[in-house]
Amino acid sequence: MRALSELAVAGKRVFVRVDFNVPLADGRVAEDTRIEASLPTLRTILAQGGRPVVASHLGRPKGVRNEKYSLAPVASHLAGLLGCRVTLAKDCVGRDVAAAATNLPPGEVLLLENLRFHPQEEKNDPAFAAELAALADCYVNDAFGAAHRAHASTAGMVSHFKGCAAAGLLLEREVSFLSRLLVAPERPFLAVLGGAKVSDKIAVIESLLARVQGLCIGGAMAYTFLKVLGKPIGRSLVEDDKLDVARDAIARAKSAGVEVLLPTDHVAADRPEAGAVVRTVSADAFPPDLLGVDIGPETARRYAEAVAAAHTVLWNGPMGIFEIPAFSAGTRAVADALPRCKGTTVVGGGDSIAALAQAGKLDAVTHVSTGGGASLEFLEGKVLPGVQALEEAA
Ligand code: AMP
Repeated sequence: MRALSELAVAGKRVFVRVDFNVPLADGRVAEDTRIEASLPTLRTILAQGGRPVVASHLGRPKGVRNEKYSLAPVASHLAGLLGCRVTLAKDCVGRDVAAAATNLPPGEVLLLENLRFHPQEEKNDPAFAAELAALADCYVNDAFGAAHRAHASTAGMVSHFKGCAAAGLLLEREVSFLSRLLVAPERPFLAVLGGAKVSDKIAVIESLLARVQGLCIGGAMAYTFLKVLGKPIGRSLVEDDKLDVARDAIARAKSAGVEVLLPTDHVAADRPEAGAVVRTVSADAFPPDLLGVDIGPETARRYAEAVAAAHTVLWNGPMGIFEIPAFSAGTRAVADALPRCKGTTVVGGGDSIAALAQAGKLDAVTHVSTGGGASLEFLEGKVLPGVQALEEAA
């Protein structure tokens, strides 16, 4: 991929695809991490005299205009953050929008209206892609969170910018850190995976089994694995249709020499709610009437030690129902242990990032991957259409 620093943007209209799919409340931006994440790219382009024509999707308007999903609140929020004028275009294509892009003065930003007001965006329609491409002289993709989608703005339009398409700073950083995990990570490489479902993570587990030396499993996912091993799990969440998948993963780990760590004790509760009756139980003596809501203290200690001893750590998914404080200690223990790892630490997944933020450890890890689905697909070893398009246009 061409880097942003290799793109001559002075005086040019620069189409910047960002991921401004942020939560809104009462007509305002409720949480702006994704906007903040693309500020370095936008500031770099503005500082070099480029004229950013910024485009994003927001929510799921399903191809029809719907004011509920307008980027208007984002435009004013962005103006405040950048300290410059941000004009919201009435649409993302059309004659008026083209004129607004042509007449955009240096030092200002034109924000296009929600790309997904047009069904052609998600269909990667070539004519729509050409219309978007006509709005600019060069192209930058900083929407890593949307790079796993082959849409008009992430893939189709990029072929119109041969030699003048670049990765934004956020996208470049994500690809660089996630690639490091796939290609020659420093050993020992430990993955700590949690969350609700084996089915969501199995492709990542399979990809990682060829790369890691250790795998810690927590969250509800652990109960499917423990059931395969014949352990009692009470009324814990289990995916009975994924037992074969878990059995297969355990066998593959064994033949690859990967150490799989599973909980040896649990926090068990009579119901998955605040105020529940809670007990710490050993994995061999799980009471039939309780369900597992967090890894136990001994398991938390083992996982924390494994994190501290590893030279590369990937963490994705909470160790328990961490949203409820009484069930959050296991997840917190992993967050607290990350800074003790001497090598590269990468954290992905909204819940893990939230837990890391709660623990005040966001700045203590090497990379926080906000890419969500795109990060997981990348780690599964899939080629992301948005990244591929940039490579082909480089
Ligand atoms: P995921 O989106 O797959 O990463 O799953 C995150 C969700 O898994 C969180 O909302 C957690 O509350 C939930 N979770 C983690 N551990 C458990 C558990 N032991 N039982 C039920 N849900 C859990």
